[in-house]
Amino acid sequence: MRFIDMHCDTLMNVLFEDPEKMNLYQAPYAAIDFLRMKEAGQMGQFFAAFMPVERMWQRAKGPMLSDEDYIRTTHDALVRNVEAHDDLIRMAYSGEDAERNWEDGRMSAFFTMEDGRAVQGDLGNIKRFYDMGCRALALTWNAKNCFGSPNSTDSEIMAEGLTDFGKDGVRYMQEIGMLVDVSHLSEGGFWDVAEICTKPFIASHSNSRALSPHQRNLSDDQIRALADKGGVTGINFCPAFLNEDITCKDSTAERMADHVMHIIDVGGIECVGLGSDLDGTSGNMEIDECSKMHLLEEALRRRGLSEDDLSRIFYRNVLRVLKEAVL
Ligand SMILES: [Zn+2]
Repeated sequence: MRFIDMHCDTLMNVLFEDPEKMNLYQAPYAAIDFLRMKEAGQMGQFFAAFMPVERMWQRAKGPMLSDEDYIRTTHDALVRNVEAHDDLIRMAYSGEDAERNWEDGRMSAFFTMEDGRAVQGDLGNIKRFYDMGCRALALTWNAKNCFGSPNSTDSEIMAEGLTDFGKDGVRYMQEIGMLVDVSHLSEGGFWDVAEICTKPFIASHSNSRALSPHQRNLSDDQIRALADKGGVTGINFCPAFLNEDITCKDSTAERMADHVMHIIDVGGIECVGLGSDLDGTSGNMEIDECSKMHLLEEALRRRGLSEDDLSRIFYRNVLRVLKEAVL
């Protein structure tokens, strides 16, 4: 099935598990690799350089790296793997690239980043990451950084907006054509992004807070504002962001379909996509690898969605955003 997934943590997983080779072609311990993407019929994958916090390095089989070394290492491994399997997959830096790759019978790999802390308050670093190939940046992860504050159960932190640099950074990203990703961001930060952006922005991996009350999810007002700007939110497979009881460990395609249908009701068919978060989440996962994505398609078909609707959700909405906001 043709689909584009806007978020995974596979790069971190292969660096931690297999620091010597970082094999993305075949990685049995990971949820995503090129072979299974091909088997799934996948069109594209956003491969995020998620910036690990110190405790996460304890499970790494290699040495802890600085942020700069980590970004370079994960990026270079992605490009190296893609170049070695040119018969299957090519790098993409725009929606047009992804369409061309598809016409040529290839899947697409996008390089993205999660947590803007490595930007260190310098627009020049955003440009440097763009020039390296990064086409989407999640402004924060779960801690404050130069862009702003994260999602939080503390209502004061949740209300905090972007920093002055964060506002300049968002304007600059829209100008140069890098997707602004609000997943993990505080609500105050979200509203600043919604006000500043003149082109679509994304929540690469966030669900509906009306269905699952986790603060990582988007409220109905946020979904409407995202949709107003032509943006897309990617359905996240993490149990804590799917269930009404956020301690429940089950992640089912049916529950994902509930979120898709709610987001369509609130923001329309054009504002929902996929952001699996595979390799960054765990639990009783019905879809625990990319090759099982057809289970979500089948669940959505049972909800009565048309082929046209399904194609929008699975890849056309993301392609449109890429064409409108990525240069
Ligand atoms: Zn994340």
